[in-house]
Amino acid sequence: LVSPESRASATPMMEQYIEIKANNPDSLLFYRMGDFYELFFEDAVEASRALGITLTKRGQHLGQDIPMCGVPIHAADDYLQKLISLGFRVAVCEQVEDPAEAKKRGSKSVVKRDVVRLVTPGTLTEDKLLSPSESNYLMALARIKGGSEPQLALAWIDISTGVFRLAETTQLRLLADILRIEPRELIVADSVFHDEELKPTFDVLGRVAVPQPAILFDSASAEGRITRYFGVGTLDGFGAFSRAELAAAAAAVAYVEKTQIAERPPLNPPERESGASTLFIDPATRANLELTRTLAGDRDGSLLKAIDRTVTGGGARLLAERLMSPLTDPDEINRRLDSVAFLIDEPSLCGDLRTSLKHVPDMPRALSRLALDRGGPRDLGAIRQGLAAARQVADFLGRALLPEELSAALKDLSALPRFVEDEMDRVLGDDLPLLKRDGGFVRDGAHGELDEVRALRDQSRRVIAGLQLHYAEETGIKSLKIKHNNVLGYFIEVTAGNAGPMTDTPEAKARFIHRQTMANAMRFTTTELADLESRIANAADRALTIELEAFDRLTSMVLAHAEVIKAGARALSVIDVAAALGLLAEEWNYCRPEVDASRQFCIEGGRHPVVEQALRRQSSGSFIANDCNLSPQKAGGFGALWLLTGPNMGGKSTFLRQNAVIAILAQMGSFVPATKAQIGVVDRLFSRVGASDDLARGRSTFMVEMVETAAILNQATDRSLVILDEIGRGTATFDGLSIAWAAVEHLHEANRCRGLFATHFHELTVLSEKLNRLSNATMKVKEWDGHVIFLHEVGPGAADRSYGIQVAKLAGLPDAVVARARDVLNKLEDADRKNPASQLIDDLPLFQVAVRKEQEKRGPSKVEEALKAINPDEMTPREALDALYALRKQL
Ligand code: ADP
Repeated sequence: LVSPESRASATPMMEQYIEIKANNPDSLLFYRMGDFYELFFEDAVEASRALGITLTKRGQHLGQDIPMCGVPIHAADDYLQKLISLGFRVAVCEQVEDPAEAKKRGSKSVVKRDVVRLVTPGTLTEDKLLSPSESNYLMALARIKGGSEPQLALAWIDISTGVFRLAETTQLRLLADILRIEPRELIVADSVFHDEELKPTFDVLGRVAVPQPAILFDSASAEGRITRYFGVGTLDGFGAFSRAELAAAAAAVAYVEKTQIAERPPLNPPERESGASTLFIDPATRANLELTRTLAGDRDGSLLKAIDRTVTGGGARLLAERLMSPLTDPDEINRRLDSVAFLIDEPSLCGDLRTSLKHVPDMPRALSRLALDRGGPRDLGAIRQGLAAARQVADFLGRALLPEELSAALKDLSALPRFVEDEMDRVLGDDLPLLKRDGGFVRDGAHGELDEVRALRDQSRRVIAGLQLHYAEETGIKSLKIKHNNVLGYFIEVTAGNAGPMTDTPEAKARFIHRQTMANAMRFTTTELADLESRIANAADRALTIELEAFDRLTSMVLAHAEVIKAGARALSVIDVAAALGLLAEEWNYCRPEVDASRQFCIEGGRHPVVEQALRRQSSGSFIANDCNLSPQKAGGFGALWLLTGPNMGGKSTFLRQNAVIAILAQMGSFVPATKAQIGVVDRLFSRVGASDDLARGRSTFMVEMVETAAILNQATDRSLVILDEIGRGTATFDGLSIAWAAVEHLHEANRCRGLFATHFHELTVLSEKLNRLSNATMKVKEWDGHVIFLHEVGPGAADRSYGIQVAKLAGLPDAVVARARDVLNKLEDADRKNPASQLIDDLPLFQVAVRKEQEKRGPSKVEEALKAINPDEMTPREALDALYALRKQL
């Protein structure tokens, strides 16, 4: 398309099109023509297919028809939404001069056009394109090479709310961090995108990850770009950032500039997120626990959906954010819990707050649109309404003695400018149009001249109604009407058969000036009517000018207080979340967890929130609560690591997940589904639950299982919580048993974490004899007349059998197969009794011992030898230091 011949043979308009398209090769080009955005060539073919709209053609290019399709301006948002959700990016190209200007340059001249905005998934602001309860993040990943390990950092921006955050990350936790924040778009430098080591990460992200020119990520010019954007001389006021963080932040800012072109969305100063203060949840665990989506990808059925009682968009977003990044600092967690507890104790206050909060619109998003000059009267209305609701909320809160977090929120609410609200109340009407150019949003009585021109306009309209009556009498045509359309303006219309009195005499002809003859009607005007018409048009013009001025004035006033308003909106979200969690706790009988820095993990009467709610909804019995004590000292016969056996369908997975979920809920600052919960903060949460096939990435189920298990064994610390469901299942029995055996030993001896390990390998239960913090637990079942009844109750001990055959029978396996399976099982069990795998416990040394023996076989290491040779008593401090350095070098 961009070849010289192609350009030379194009019409002037097509030449302009081709040039603009050439600058935006990876986007569909929406080319403005009149009341439509038109798409041409390949774009038209793709868009018509994606949108299901007709493909037509317009003119020819190089002897070929030019394919074309178009979307009307007024419906453009809907089409944009569809295209964005399908993964397209769209360049919006507008006319940037008055067509009259172009005409002045000559009749063939084309109106100047330019791309005014790139619409991409990560840079949306329109309400229609955004989900109220989800953040819409654009994220940039920067990598700085040099040093032993490359530095990685992430920066993420939601231009619809102004949130701007930064964090350092590592290759190991990169994917976890990205998935935790769930960006809609991740931009990466070309070279990084094609890096072999990172490729698996980008494969998982699919279309979300987009390569961009490396220049955007240039760390040398990063600081300058950011200071320019914020109009500050130095970044010192924002905090200290690493080079990688700066590069990521600058890339994100550069991309915002690239996509928004003429506009600068108001961003909050970049804020660093400290990795040490959030609970690390690896991607597999996040998915397995179905925190925000089920494994099938639905929001319904997720934990978030089950606990969300918020009534504002901002509150819903904050709740999701907290669920995805629970805390690890007990003080901070308790501050949040204090708010929830306080609102539970004050039910009527909580009710009042929620009633007021229901009226809180999405202020941050309205602010962003106003700042980007994409706002309308309803955005101003949203701010007004939000300010009024905030004042009510502050009134309610002001009467109580508040815990710290709520008291800080109240302070932010009290700082909201009352006069902004008053001024908007005075000027802005009640029923607001979407677009400012529609006018009619300034209240009567707010502006003297506006009232006058409006009166003039209304009066003229009344005069016109009077004229119709007058002309009908004068001509004797009863059906004569005065009508209006956009082409003719006001005109008199009579049926063709009735037109006689207006055309028969020269006087009549002079008075009723003929304008148009239709199939069965004739249209006329008069000097009086034309006069009135121009008065009305002038009045309307003037009225709109005044209204637009008022709009601009209100907008600047609001934007001047954007920071305070955003802080207020944030405070409302905090209150919404606290009230919502309070309501949830009341509704479902949750208790306040005791969170501290100990290594305790003691849950009494724990339940799974999602399963519990589902059972109640389906009225299929109630959830059986279960205790779980993983405290370090053996308490009540239980240790920190449990080996859980029991039949399929017995409730093992549910039990495993519920304890992980309780830890997450507690650390995000929520009450938990239990009668009592004592939790020493967990630093990392890992799970390996169920078999999640990952065939798309070319890995077998077993491979995935091993990769996830490896991640756990390598990373879990003595503060971590680990949930393992049936590892070693995807391979031959002995392989699997051996791997599971070694993994349990490793968790117990090396990781020393708290954990639950569900297994079908009953042989493993003998390990509890040797591993002092390992205990056996089992899901209780009752056997009755050859059937199994699942009690869903966890108790001490080991299951004696798997009941696999009974479950198979329940599932409807043919009787003959069930009978035959029983025979086979009996034979196998006979053989096993003669040579049981459980004998291993006597034959094998423990993991630590085994590792030590392995080391002994290898002999002492170099460092050990060197250490032995040192005699500290004979060394000067200087020599000791040198020796220390020398030792360090040998590592
Ligand atoms: P397993 O992992 O042992 O195969 P699951 O945890 O998948 O068993 O549970 C099987 C079914 O039993 C679940 O679908 C759930 O409806 C029910 N269930 C599990 N735990 C409980 C419980 N504590 N109380 C009531 N029903 C339960």
